[in-house]
Amino acid sequence: MNDRDELLAIARQVKEHVAWLERGNVAGVPRGVGRVHRAPDGPSPSAQGRGNANVTANADASGLIAIREDLGDCTRCKLSGGRKNIVFGVGNPAAALAFVGEAPGADEDASGEPFVGAAGQLLTKMIQAMGLQREDVYICNIIKCRPPGNRNPEPDEIAACEPFLKRQLASIKPKIIVCLGKFAAQCLLRSDAPISRLRGTFQSYEGIALMPTFHPAYLLRNPSAKREVWSDLQVVMAELDKLGVARNSG
Ligand code: SF4
Repeated sequence: MNDRDELLAIARQVKEHVAWLERGNVAGVPRGVGRVHRAPDGPSPSAQGRGNANVTANADASGLIAIREDLGDCTRCKLSGGRKNIVFGVGNPAAALAFVGEAPGADEDASGEPFVGAAGQLLTKMIQAMGLQREDVYICNIIKCRPPGNRNPEPDEIAACEPFLKRQLASIKPKIIVCLGKFAAQCLLRSDAPISRLRGTFQSYEGIALMPTFHPAYLLRNPSAKREVWSDLQVVMAELDKLGVARNSG
């Protein structure tokens, strides 16, 4: 990425934040307050959120912009050689709900935005079915450059890139992360358990409640698994409601 592309990426982050503010913070953030602080660990986001609801009224994108600037035209791992664009992440910088996938694919590499291909369109529908819009949530991946042939990211690539994801999530402070797919779930949870066992109940990542579920790309190949994903998302929606996160449930 050259300087111009980097500036454009930063400008896109600012534009998204302004659009989010202009929408009046109606959905995707708690009613009445900007954020709810949580205890550092524990699987129940509602239990974490209750009783301690002061904090910042409006989040701001400056934390994410600083992280993007630190990332720069990153060459920290070998994936830099084959990418067209760094896929940093997109969405509400104060999102109560974040989605984390594995890695960019060809469409994402070409556009610089996560989840824009067929799987991304399905993810958008899932978000809308939850009574939210794409702009209400934050969407990103464990690594930010496309692995060749869409292979799984390798340990050295994860080690180089995950610190930036951690910083992004620390800045956004989502109440819940939905982790998309086996690889992302196993990576974030440092687990070898199959996604069929991990999904459906809240886990904890860096003190944030994390719900593993199937990747939208898997759903495109196995539509019958949509039932399980919807069940997982219903658990997430129930917790968002307990936390007072506004969404259109009509
Ligand atoms: S995958 Fe991450 S660490 Fe590797 S080059 Fe891309 S941005 Fe840098």
